[in-house]
Amino acid sequence: MSDPRRLVPGTDTVLADNRFVEPLHRLGQTLVKRAVREAQEQARLGEIPPGSVTEMALALLPDTASTLRPVLNATGIVLHTNLGRAPLSPAAVEALCAAAGYVDVEYDVLSGARARRGRGTLDALRESVPAAEDVHIVNNGAAALALVVATLAAGREVVISRGEMVEIGDRFRIPDLLISAGARLREVGTTNRTQLADYAEAVGANTGFIVKIHPSNFRVDGFTQSVGVRELSTLGPPVVADVGSGLLRPDPLLAEEPDVTTWLCEGAALVTSSGDKLLGGPQAGLIFGRRAVIQTLRRNPLARAFRVDKLTLAALEATLRGPEDPVRRSLTVAPKELRRRAEVIAADLRAEGVTAVAVESSGAVGGGGAPGVDLPGWAVGLPASFSLLLRQGHPCIVGRVEAGRCLLDLRCLSESDDIVLHRAVVAAAACLATS
Ligand SMILES: *Cc1c(COP(=O)(O)O)cnc(C)c1O
Repeated sequence: MSDPRRLVPGTDTVLADNRFVEPLHRLGQTLVKRAVREAQEQARLGEIPPGSVTEMALALLPDTASTLRPVLNATGIVLHTNLGRAPLSPAAVEALCAAAGYVDVEYDVLSGARARRGRGTLDALRESVPAAEDVHIVNNGAAALALVVATLAAGREVVISRGEMVEIGDRFRIPDLLISAGARLREVGTTNRTQLADYAEAVGANTGFIVKIHPSNFRVDGFTQSVGVRELSTLGPPVVADVGSGLLRPDPLLAEEPDVTTWLCEGAALVTSSGDKLLGGPQAGLIFGRRAVIQTLRRNPLARAFRVDKLTLAALEATLRGPEDPVRRSLTVAPKELRRRAEVIAADLRAEGVTAVAVESSGAVGGGGAPGVDLPGWAVGLPASFSLLLRQGHPCIVGRVEAGRCLLDLRCLSESDDIVLHRAVVAAAACLATS
């Protein structure tokens, strides 16, 4: 008997099958050959018969050339940090794809000369916040703060309340960021109480600016006091205020979230925020404020290190000018609408023999924003064993496990996803039945 390993077909033989023509075009040689090698290896180890190498290689082909997998967010958390925060609107996705090739990001097609980079996006941002004399865009909220510190307070003091020395997440801490960008911290007040007099005593010739950080991901209750931007602005040095979430105007739905316009009107010289939290855009850091200060920021050599790419500029402009974004829709969807959908899905699943019920489910804003805000909604409740299978499926569905149940919260899914969800659960049930 000859060694069965010698029967394993060679790479060229496998690739001669015309079912590889399209994948080779779409994914490229490297990824396709990797799948073939993996299938050949399985045959050599005797895990599959040599005659199945082609089929196995086809099955092992990845969906796309990137390992990033689209996920259906059934967690009920609108700005899920681990799931990429804000999902973009269709208008933003279209703009982003259109900008992927050559694009006039820094070019004036009429004159054929160089033009201001991202001018359309800067205009849209200025128009969205008339209270800002000028605006600047960088890579993220942290880069916005770093650029401001490096420009206005390198080697000088930033006055900060001890109640605002916050961790954004994963051990990234605002005070560390301010220090690493070149500032010395002048801490004032205590964890729970800081008064205007505390700031007044700390301000001096060495003050670069006073910083106001929105403690966006936690709440302090009880014997507390903090000082608002309006009062801080009476002290002399510029006030730099970090709103975090990116609300441009007050929002009755999120009454406790500060917004860019209000803090500018209260006297902040600069306000910084993220682009991919409540604003619902791509990852970006937005800086709003006085013209002269923004000009100085723009001239800092670090501005180049923090500048955003054409894709971000395109998606951000379309978010600002385009239709309602998915974040807004997920935040405002009516609970009774979610209930109706959950009941339909659960009933359809029960009709197919799956143990499913519509249950009330608490969603959250997430992304380190609006910590006290509970978003009442509805979910489809399944046995906990569904959770892993749904995460491994195509599409990948991420739910929440609560009280021994797998909850698929519908808040962040559009109604057109309901049928996808239904099919995925039925497929998972079939899998569980045979295992
Ligand atoms: C999220 C957040 C940041 C950091 O913004 P990134 O865009 O994540 O870099 C900074 N400050 C506050 C108050 C935040 O909420």
